[in-house]
Amino acid sequence: MFDSVLIANRGEIACRIIRTLRRLGIRSVVTYADADADARHVREADAALWVRSYLDVDDVVGAAVRAGAGAVHPGYGFLAENPDLARACAEHGIVFVGPPPDAIAAMGDKIRAKRTVAAAGVPVVPGRDEAGLSDDELAAAAMEVGLNAGAAVLLKPSAGGGGKGMRRVEDPGELRDAIAASRREALGAFGDDTLLVERYIDSPRHIEIQVFADAHGDVVHLGERECSLQRRHQKIVEEAPSPLLGTGPEGERIRAAMGASAVAAAKAVGYVGAGTVEYIVSADRPDEYFFMEMNTRLQVEHPVTELAVAIGDRPGLDLVELQLRVAAGEPLPFGQDAVAFAGHAVEARVYAEDPARGFLPTGGRVLLLAEPAGPGVRVDSGLVEGTVVGGSYDPMLAKVIAAGPDRATALRRLDRALASYTLLGVGTNVAFLRSLLTDPDVVAGRLDTGLVERRPAEPAEEIPEDVLAAAALERMLALEVPDPGPWDVPDGWRVGRSAWTTWRIAGREVRIRGRAADAEVSVDGAEPVRVAARRHGADLIVDYAGDRTRFVCARDGDVCRLGRDGRVWSLQETEPLAARATETTASAGAVRSPMPGTVAAVKAADGDEVVAGQPLVIVEAMKMEHTVTAPVDGLVSGLTVQPGAQVALDEVLAVVTPKGDS
Ligand code: ADP
Ligand code: ADP
Ligand code: MG
Repeated sequence: MFDSVLIANRGEIACRIIRTLRRLGIRSVVTYADADADARHVREADAALWVRSYLDVDDVVGAAVRAGAGAVHPGYGFLAENPDLARACAEHGIVFVGPPPDAIAAMGDKIRAKRTVAAAGVPVVPGRDEAGLSDDELAAAAMEVGLNAGAAVLLKPSAGGGGKGMRRVEDPGELRDAIAASRREALGAFGDDTLLVERYIDSPRHIEIQVFADAHGDVVHLGERECSLQRRHQKIVEEAPSPLLGTGPEGERIRAAMGASAVAAAKAVGYVGAGTVEYIVSADRPDEYFFMEMNTRLQVEHPVTELAVAIGDRPGLDLVELQLRVAAGEPLPFGQDAVAFAGHAVEARVYAEDPARGFLPTGGRVLLLAEPAGPGVRVDSGLVEGTVVGGSYDPMLAKVIAAGPDRATALRRLDRALASYTLLGVGTNVAFLRSLLTDPDVVAGRLDTGLVERRPAEPAEEIPEDVLAAAALERMLALEVPDPGPWDVPDGWRVGRSAWTTWRIAGREVRIRGRAADAEVSVDGAEPVRVAARRHGADLIVDYAGDRTRFVCARDGDVCRLGRDGRVWSLQETEPLAARATETTASAGAVRSPMPGTVAAVKAADGDEVVAGQPLVIVEAMKMEHTVTAPVDGLVSGLTVQPGAQVALDEVLAVVTPKGDS
């Protein structure tokens, strides 16, 4: 076994790999880029070496050499599926924890991958898998594959990943534009605009098989994961086993067939290590499955397999340990017959994104963090208090995974775990995840990849009165002195009777009187309610009309952040006057960045006359572009950002002054 392993990654996956290294007594070395100098993976590793970028093969291999690492674990994303890293490691006598470079290259190209596995007898999604097609040929292929017969097709970048650049087309009239757009996105994201076209499978389910191969020619599969809950072709919630297959005899039969097929796909490219063969399955024909692609690495959702599978009578499995053993040349320690599901596990991905703003990435500093724990609950996280979440990297922050003897138990545990996932300072999708997990179709296991996008947007909810009261009480507690004389009470206390203090919180009027331990509060002029509050570290315990709740609480200047049940409110205190000032700026047309990210393009200049809706700046954060447009007709000023500049959430990018206003 290795003495020392370099992890060429960051975030939750780097921390997760460190855990296994530590357990095995192996020294962990990580790389870090400038933005991550203080990141959790850097704090936890035994050593950390600076690189210009996580994507810089020379820097990464140089770091491994300097650190004396015997192996490099690439995690997922970044260089995990780049055969150049695998080759460079080999040249320096370092073991790459992953398949041989040729297997990565064969599967990294979807066209080549489909042709290779089809030749090995694996069913692939019907389509045209041919490289070098011109736009005309591609359009003709799309017609043949389905459009002629009124069926939709899917254009896909052959070099693709992360759901980028894919376009569904159902109207032949839109084909030309879709091909052009898909090519553009593919070129931008992967430096290669080769496309393939597939039949679009309607309301499909994504079911993938975990395979494992050793260097001695043995390959096993570890059952499936279902990842049908997706948004924009990206997974949000994953589970094992698939509720479509279940554990009955028919499911076992399909599982065995899909598994054997996945093993054949791995063997077709001389695979070694952990890999995932992704299939698309139509919801009403579970016995009809089609190969989509193979990911030649550890998958984000690997924990559900680790928690749901048993080897013989031993429940659980550490796939990273198995990767390291296989990379060190050990044979697989078990055969196919020993593998079975022994329970159910579900994972939810916690993203720094705002469901209320079209899932745009958020960002900020983690002010307070308490992640769940308990029986059957696992959290893989890259966060610590103080972590700054910016726009340079993938917005996935952590994964919450729950396991149980059956699916219903696992789902319930996951919901409870998410309810106690506390993160203040960075907006997340946790409340959205909770609502998704209680969707009747999800509970019943009726999943498909369109489910998430079909659900109606949840209406913006008014801030509950007890939350506003809690914010006012928190303010009061901060101002109160422990043992006050009558002159210390900040609420306008007078001999005789205390007076009302009025605060404007999140645009609402909150009046309060008394002391935090015994007060009355009235929101927007309603009948006063008896309230009380006390602090317990980060907890704020509030009695509201006799009901007791525990909030977590952090103040950041004039913003009070309160969290409860996986929901977070950021409550800004404003003077009525200040509120008016902000409104004025807004109407004058301050244009703000909707997310932290990088300026991809600047479409206007100072002094330009623009019309409402005209693009001004394109901001990009990993996998997503957002066009910032002029809010009103007018004159542009203050537009100083340049392409490549980093911008913060809500940073003012320009001002558009309506004509006649200046
Ligand atoms: P999984 O099936 O493991 O979830 P994803 O496609 O979601 O796979 O990608 C996993 C991670 O790898 C994500 O962090 C994603 O951003 C990153 N990733 C995937 N493909 C690419 C790519 N081509 N370039 C850069 N990062 C990628
Ligand atoms: P990536 O490399 O970006 O992960 P995939 O080929 O794995 O690309 O596709 C990503 C997702 O897109 C799948 O999980 C599935 O939801 C959807 N998808 C892919 N191919 C098809 C298809 N032919 N029909 C319908 N949906 C598809
Ligand atoms: Mg995929």
